[in-house]
Amino acid sequence: MATRAAAATLTAATSSLLGRSPSLRSHSLRVPRQVPPQRFVRHVASSANEEAAARAAAATADTGGPTIFDKIVSKEIPSSVVYEDDKVLAFRDINPQAPVHVLVIPKVRDGLTGLSKAEPRHAEILGQLLYAAKVVAEKEGLANGYRVVINDGAEGCQSVYHLHLHVLGGRQLKWPPG
Ligand code: 5GP
Repeated sequence: MATRAAAATLTAATSSLLGRSPSLRSHSLRVPRQVPPQRFVRHVASSANEEAAARAAAATADTGGPTIFDKIVSKEIPSSVVYEDDKVLAFRDINPQAPVHVLVIPKVRDGLTGLSKAEPRHAEILGQLLYAAKVVAEKEGLANGYRVVINDGAEGCQSVYHLHLHVLGGRQLKWPPG
């Protein structure tokens, strides 16, 4: 009883100091939920894995050899196609990072293992890819905004060496990206 009375007095005194009602006070002073430390550990571990995988991919895959996307273009491997024309294919990413995550690729790679390999002759297809990204975003109903990303090379975390644009949307995206 004595403890409960002391607690009530303390609550009233604190609210009067803050000039707020006890309910408001308890709400505004709520301690932010702590993110369990293991989540950071997992994030650090997974980004270390991503970096290692990206370096390995860059070392072995930026050779101009075939990639998984050739098989997707030839339909040897199935994909969920969102948009297609004679030059461009857009299909859903197998490991989506947002409710909408579509990859936009040139059907013929023509040396474009990544954006850094672009030459003047690629200017037209680069424009077509970017325009296709806009068409995809419209088709996917991303009226409130979206992001178009090109990862390039090991430090850009590129894993498939056939140029592709990621179209991401359907949730509030954060900036800067990791
Ligand atoms: P990068 O890391 O090179 O920028 O992006 C490559 C993307 O290709 C990744 O997001 C990855 O999930 C996606 N991807 C890799 N293999 C396949 C596949 O077989 N099918 C589909 N749809 N996406 C793939």
